[in-house]
Amino acid sequence: MDRRRFLKRSIQGAGALLLLGAMGRLLARSTSDRVVYQIDPAKCKHCGKCATVCVLTRSAVKNVNNFEKCGYCEYCYGYYSDHPSSHDSKKICPNDALIRKRVGEFKYEYKIDRGKCVGCGKCVARCKKHGNGSLALQIDRKRCVDCNVCAIAQRCPAHAISAVTVKS
Ligand code: SF4
Ligand code: SF4
Ligand code: SF4
Repeated sequence: MDRRRFLKRSIQGAGALLLLGAMGRLLARSTSDRVVYQIDPAKCKHCGKCATVCVLTRSAVKNVNNFEKCGYCEYCYGYYSDHPSSHDSKKICPNDALIRKRVGEFKYEYKIDRGKCVGCGKCVARCKKHGNGSLALQIDRKRCVDCNVCAIAQRCPAHAISAVTVKS
């Protein structure tokens, strides 16, 4: 084989290897990347649709408490309608999904029972309006079935749900 033909074959071989590499990377990306939906708590208006529009009988959307933001208040606006000492005070959650536990003098921890929470956002709205805004609605990744198009995102009046690409 003369020098010219040898060089031509070498260049063709390198090109084929580069093409294979690019195809491999594309394939790896398409198999490991997936699109999921998430809620932006700053945009959410707690309209109630998260509880009723999800394709699941019991919505994939749940309330979460950011403990770094939470004030551990004795009077949690998301938990009570009025100060706990008031006889008129009632629980905000219609499903009794907020768990209140005393953790110090005048200090209370609020956890969510995910089995009971339907993602209605009633507690979240009050926490955002009157409290520290530590409660927020989020799509539970363990429950969400990753619909091609999220039914809630399509109906969300605040455009608070967006699709993001994540590694599997
Ligand atoms: S549909 Fe949108 S605005 Fe309504 S509760 Fe869900 S995320 Fe919030
Ligand atoms: S989002 Fe609704 S169901 Fe869930 S804890 Fe808050 S009030 Fe209860
Ligand atoms: S992607 Fe489907 S299952 Fe997940 S929150 Fe939206 S409607 Fe519900």
